[in-house]
Amino acid sequence: MEFKADALVLRTADWGEYDKIVTLFTADRGKLSAALKGVKRAGAKLKFAAQPFCFAEFVFAERSGRNTVISAYLHDGFYPLREDIACYYAAVVLCEACDQLLFEGIESPALFLAAVRALESLSSCAEGAGGEARPEDGKSGSSYVLLKFLLAALKEAGYPVSAGDCPHCGERLSGRMRFDMESGAFGCEACGGGVPASGSTYLAVRAALGQGGEATADGVKRALRLVSAYFAFQASDLPSLEEYLRL
Ligand SMILES: [Zn+2]
Repeated sequence: MEFKADALVLRTADWGEYDKIVTLFTADRGKLSAALKGVKRAGAKLKFAAQPFCFAEFVFAERSGRNTVISAYLHDGFYPLREDIACYYAAVVLCEACDQLLFEGIESPALFLAAVRALESLSSCAEGAGGEARPEDGKSGSSYVLLKFLLAALKEAGYPVSAGDCPHCGERLSGRMRFDMESGAFGCEACGGGVPASGSTYLAVRAALGQGGEATADGVKRALRLVSAYFAFQASDLPSLEEYLRL
C-alpha cells in the first residue's frame, strides 16, 4: 500500500551500509519511522530527505507494518539554520521536544503547524533577516522563538504553563515568586510551594504566551531553564536544551 504525508524529519539513524531510518513527524499521522534505502550512496536522489529539519511531502510504501520512503518533494530544508550555531541548536531542541511529546499514530496537527512556523522563524533569525521577536542576533532571537514553541508544545501535550495572578490568593505577581511543577502555575512567595522563580522569568513567559509585556534577554534565558525543568518533570529530559543554554 502507498500513502503520502507532509512530514518533518525529527531524527535519522544509520541502517546497514547504505540505508537510513528516519523518524518523521507527519501532519496527519503523528510520528512514524521509515527506511530511506540507498541514501548514503554518492549522488542518491533522496539524500535531502535524510537531513534533519527537512520538511517535505513524503510518499511511502507500507509492507507488513514497515514503511519505506519511495519519493519526497521538498517544501523547505531550512538551510539558513546551518549558518548560525544557536539557531541550529534551537532547531535540534525543537525536534527533540516533538520526538519526546509525540507517540506513534497519534496525530497532532496544531503541534505540527507550530513546529513548522518555529523552524521558519529560526531560519530567519539565522539569516538575521528580521526574525519573529528579537532578531538582533541569532541567540536572543532563537531563544525567544524556542521559548514560545516549547510553551505551545507543552500546552498541546496537556501540560500548559499559566502565568496569571497567584492561583491561591489572587495577588498580582511581581518580584520573587514560586513556580509549581505539578500545576505549571506561577504563584506568590507568601503562598509558597514549588520552586523559586524570578519576576523576569514570569514576564518572559507572559510575553511568550502572548499575554503582553516585554521579555528581557535574561528573562528569556531564565524562562528556558525553568521550562527545561518543567519539561523534565512532566515528560522527559531534553539534553539538547541543556546544551543550547550552555552555548
Ligand atoms: Zn498567593
